[in-house]
Amino acid sequence: MRKLLIIVSLFILNKALAQTAVVPLRDKFVLVIHGGAGTILKSQMTPEKEKAYQEALNKALETGYAILKNGGSAMDAVEAAVRTMEDNPLFNAGKGAVFTNEGKNELDAAIMDGKTLAAGSVAGVTTIRNPITAARAVMEKSPHVMMTGKGAEKFAQQQGIEIVDPSYFYTEDRWKGLQRAKSEDSTKMQQDHTDTSKKVSLRQPENKDYKYGTVGAVALDRHGNLAAATSTGGMTNKKFGRVGDAPIIGAGTYANNATVAISGTGWGEYFIRLVMAKSISDMMEFGKMKLKNAADEMIMKRLPALGGDGGLVAVDKNGNIAMPFCTEGMYRGYIKSDGKKEIRIYKD
Ligand code: ASP
Repeated sequence: MRKLLIIVSLFILNKALAQTAVVPLRDKFVLVIHGGAGTILKSQMTPEKEKAYQEALNKALETGYAILKNGGSAMDAVEAAVRTMEDNPLFNAGKGAVFTNEGKNELDAAIMDGKTLAAGSVAGVTTIRNPITAARAVMEKSPHVMMTGKGAEKFAQQQGIEIVDPSYFYTEDRWKGLQRAKSEDSTKMQQDHTDTSKKVSLRQPENKDYKYGTVGAVALDRHGNLAAATSTGGMTNKKFGRVGDAPIIGAGTYANNATVAISGTGWGEYFIRLVMAKSISDMMEFGKMKLKNAADEMIMKRLPALGGDGGLVAVDKNGNIAMPFCTEGMYRGYIKSDGKKEIRIYKD
């Protein structure tokens, strides 16, 4: 009888322990970020500007690193990293967003949790200081995945997310960028009117540097979960209501624990048409391709073949990273659990 009692007690104890057992945190974690792809040439950069970009990228990396190191989630890390860049006028996201053709700032953002495949995004918002946080609220506090314009702003306000006057997003650099884009476009229109063979080029931005510049982050945390986040003002001189790839799940933003987390930057229309991020995930899942090969296939071959350009950052479930781009440069960086950190701007 006593023996039986001991066996039963041990069984109950064992079960209780199993239920409360804490899964040990893994050692390995990774964060990869970008601050946009474009015609970024060393010859056009001042040492001061270069330093400012490096510091801003470093701040984003260190912010996410601290969260991941302490066992925080990939979701928290990518949101926090992106917020630092949204608050920095150097990047085309949050403060510093580019202007639409009408002279407004219309922001897009998305976030995705690789563990649950839950996702949230906002598009065309004009008063939310940190659109990435609003995107996360859509994911966590609403039954929806995507909210746009006034509705998204109302929802964000209800959730206690910081609302600002649209003038908050104004920067002189971006305003000048719009004026340049407009005058280039009208000169181009006049030229192309006289040369019908150039019809297609009407759609192509000339100086892509000041047209692009999204921010994004992807992470693998110590629980083995992946997450991706992207935030942008879109493309300079975009038409009213235009939505890019950043808030489209599977195009500019995607995360799946079975494969990879991806955040893109570049000519959004092409990223949408190529279903960029999900295509890479599918190549890995169903085509058994390695991250590097799948990402290179899409960014270095299929994207330019269609007429687009841009880049992305990615981390797979094993912590492998990729940062391909087919533009002149891409603000980018990564930090790993062993402290290895790299920040780069140009092609090298
Ligand atoms: N992909 C963004 C968009 O098309 C622009 C960018 O990455 O700079 O909205």
